[in-house]
Amino acid sequence: MSIALNTEERDLQQALRRYLDAEVAPLVAEYERRREFPWDLLGGLYEFGYVRGAVARAHGGDEVGAMVQAVLMEEAGRCWGSLRTTVNVQGMVAMLLSRAGTDAQRARFLDPMLAASRFGWFALTEAEAGSDAGALRCTGRRDGDSFVLNGRKIYITNALHCDFGILLARQLDEDGADRGVSAFLVDAAESPYGVHDIAHMPVRSTTSCELVFDDVRIPAENLLGEPGSGFGLAMAAVNQGRLNMAMGAVGLSQACLEAAVRFSRERRQFGKSLAEFQLVQQMVVDIAVGTQTARLLGYDAARVLDAGGDGRYECSMAKYYCGETAGRSATLALQVHGGAGLMEEFPVERYFRDAREATIPEGTSQIQVLQMGKHLLGRSALR
Ligand SMILES: Cc1cc2nc3c(=O)[nH]c(=O)nc-3n(C[C@H](O)[C@H](O)[C@H](O)COP(=O)(O)OP(=O)(O)OC[C@H]3O[C@@H](n4cnc5c(N)ncnc54)[C@H](O)[C@@H]3O)c2cc1C
Repeated sequence: MSIALNTEERDLQQALRRYLDAEVAPLVAEYERRREFPWDLLGGLYEFGYVRGAVARAHGGDEVGAMVQAVLMEEAGRCWGSLRTTVNVQGMVAMLLSRAGTDAQRARFLDPMLAASRFGWFALTEAEAGSDAGALRCTGRRDGDSFVLNGRKIYITNALHCDFGILLARQLDEDGADRGVSAFLVDAAESPYGVHDIAHMPVRSTTSCELVFDDVRIPAENLLGEPGSGFGLAMAAVNQGRLNMAMGAVGLSQACLEAAVRFSRERRQFGKSLAEFQLVQQMVVDIAVGTQTARLLGYDAARVLDAGGDGRYECSMAKYYCGETAGRSATLALQVHGGAGLMEEFPVERYFRDAREATIPEGTSQIQVLQMGKHLLGRSALR
């Protein structure tokens, strides 16, 4: 536990850790093996502030600050990468509905989300538009009192299980005039679309889906926010999204540290426990130093956001450093385990896979470097 947290934040962290260790951690290995997720657990977790914390009180949420969000994500990441990814995306969808939804949209989509009875996806990435999201090609063309959606999205978290989602697509008038990128609410029951999982390495209890829209018709009232405001909406969530990923990676590093300490104390070679070998101590200490440095960078970014700062630079730094550190922590923890680290019966095998995710979504490490470079040097190297 860190003294960088105030009493309330530390109490939340301790209560949440106890809950996750008792109620969720024992389920993880089996759900990962089956590549399934226990969706019915989420209602209990929302009581701590997951998802509801991202929503205004006026709309039925808890409206928590960035530091509380940071603690929530750190603990989710320590417990289970698939859980952290799932609550992160649900929170983002809920936040966008709270910020930009009409009363009718909130009643239809947000209220059941907060009750953990409906779940949403968020779709920006396309095969030709990843880091360069502005190159997206999906379209929503106006046709009377509908929009007709066409195009494909990839890597969309949990879309297979979700009931609806927020699609970013180019909004076209009936005459083909381009109104810019808008956000569209797509309800799977009302407007069926193609969806299938793409087999993937990390966070195995999530699906990572391709979405296919071939003349999918949605009602015109499903436009979320103003025409052309889609990127603005996504950018409003960008800092919190980066910080969420960063703190999930800190939690994962912490889990690596705990596993490395546990294993090196238990395992004996050459008549001694591994913990007594200096080279093993070096690996364990390197994980600890990296984890604590990453944690303090993440907490610092959260404090900047809570103080009303823009936080763009700090969130990029946290996303970059915490993501890269998670990869190093997992590599070292696996090394401490020797051959056992590569076996599914030990959690470091999962940590190693999940750590590879930390440097990619919400802006890759390279994109964070370029954002920070622009901030420091006043020149963009993005294109
Ligand atoms: C597990 C997982 C879940 C995801 N969930 C979602 C989701 O729910 N919704 C969604 O919309 N998307 C999602 N994504 C997509 C994610 O946001 C993208 O993968 C990410 O933005 C990177 O895009 P890309 O994969 O196309 O990589 P690319 O953009 O093709 O990048 C490939 C490599 O080139 C580097 N690169 C690219 N451009 C530059 C540049 N200008 N300078 C230097 N280096 C550069 C990158 O850093 C990277 O190393 C998810 C991805 C993963 C892996």
